[in-house]
Amino acid sequence: MKEEKDEFWAEGSFAETLSEEDMKKKMRTFHMKHDEEMNYNCRKCDKKISAHNRDWHDGMCDDCFNETHFPEENKR
Ligand SMILES: [Zn+2]
Repeated sequence: MKEEKDEFWAEGSFAETLSEEDMKKKMRTFHMKHDEEMNYNCRKCDKKISAHNRDWHDGMCDDCFNETHFPEENKR
């Protein structure tokens, strides 16, 4: 489990691609709960998602995010 998380952070080299202003905006939602500001829709299944998911889960709900990024864990 731990290794996969490290991989995720390594892949998302967002610090390099975002401006300081964008980074601040993103860090705001980082500390938010997964059910706060449910004003967005999953880009895969259209389910309601939070601002946190939009910024940190690739614009997807938890289910789609896990499916996309960790398909091995869902093969059961
Ligand atoms: Zn979804």
